[in-house]
Amino acid sequence: MIQKACPRKEHIKNIHKQLKSVFKTEQQEVDSMCIITSTNHSSLPNEQLDYILSIKYLFQSNLDIDICCFFTFTETDLPHDQNVLTMNEITINKSLFANLSAVFQTTGASFNAIWKSNFQYFRDFLNHLDTCHPKTLRSSLEAEVPATDKREKLKSKVADLQPEVTKGLGQLVENKTYVDTISKRQNDISSMGDISFTIEEIRQTQEQLKPGQHVTNCVQCFFTCHENCSIPDNEKKIDCAAMKDGYCTKCTGHCIWSAHKNMPYVFHYSCVEVTKSYKEMKTSYEKEKGKTLEFHEYLENLNKDIEDLLARLHDKVKRITECNNELQGFQHNPLAGSVSDTINEMINAEKLKKEIGYEKRIEMFRELEIFSNLIRVRRN
Ligand SMILES: [Zn+2]
Ligand SMILES: [Zn+2]
Ligand SMILES: [Zn+2]
Repeated sequence: MIQKACPRKEHIKNIHKQLKSVFKTEQQEVDSMCIITSTNHSSLPNEQLDYILSIKYLFQSNLDIDICCFFTFTETDLPHDQNVLTMNEITINKSLFANLSAVFQTTGASFNAIWKSNFQYFRDFLNHLDTCHPKTLRSSLEAEVPATDKREKLKSKVADLQPEVTKGLGQLVENKTYVDTISKRQNDISSMGDISFTIEEIRQTQEQLKPGQHVTNCVQCFFTCHENCSIPDNEKKIDCAAMKDGYCTKCTGHCIWSAHKNMPYVFHYSCVEVTKSYKEMKTSYEKEKGKTLEFHEYLENLNKDIEDLLARLHDKVKRITECNNELQGFQHNPLAGSVSDTINEMINAEKLKKEIGYEKRIEMFRELEIFSNLIRVRRN
């Protein structure tokens, strides 16, 4: 199923639209807004943190916005979420706690006392809402997009990085398949000294298009919106057959025409079956490293290489994300897309294109997403 890559951005835009439609007067002010969210035991997921930051962006000045957190929980310990918010530089002006474990008890000496204090907390929360000062809504959430020159540079950067990511994913599939195979057949390796096996390699080739032939690609959706387009000039892509009223009818984001780019080439994938020998691969690896390795050392090295490759891929996707955010004028804005959003967009494109090896690449994109989320958690 194809999903919007950044549902948060769409959701926030919809809330803004709804609020604006409710207000009849010029004075577009809101007293308070409530976000209700469930959390897991140890942390608040990144998406929830992004939501909280995005909600603040609905208002003209987000400096004087009070955040009141009402934590309800049933464990004996206080929830850790307050620390998570603080660690993510979200200032909480007031915190209230209610232990709802009494809901699940019918007797016990502490039952009445807990209920009494909980009622007080609910009262405090409602009283606090009364003290909130009105905040003015932003008139528009749309950001200013960069001028033509800058825009073209950003699009070119994305267009260069994108095939590097797909190539890296292919490498990742190969490395992981190899590690899985030799791990599973470790006994055969120690008894026979060598094993040979066949793996499928996905090769990516770039084909130059014939003179006069062009394609219209969306750099935000990573999709080819018009194959065989007659318009080579990026500034004239508004007239491309894929566009209607300045927006694309083909890509999943229905992006603005200026997010599209002409390419003089297309990429093709082919699948090649290759037979490999463990011994040969290990020997050439050892030659490269300049030392002989025990089986477990070799495996450790290979796993480290996979981690390094994931880190390089993460950096490339991060760079694509930054370019696309800048392209939309969202670079220092909570509505900016995250690495996860870009990965989802790339997965969507893979699902639509269904080119050779796409299922494996999607699997690797998921691995990359897990890796990227870990980096984010570690940095916090
Ligand atoms: Zn076209
Ligand atoms: Zn498009
Ligand atoms: Zn698009």
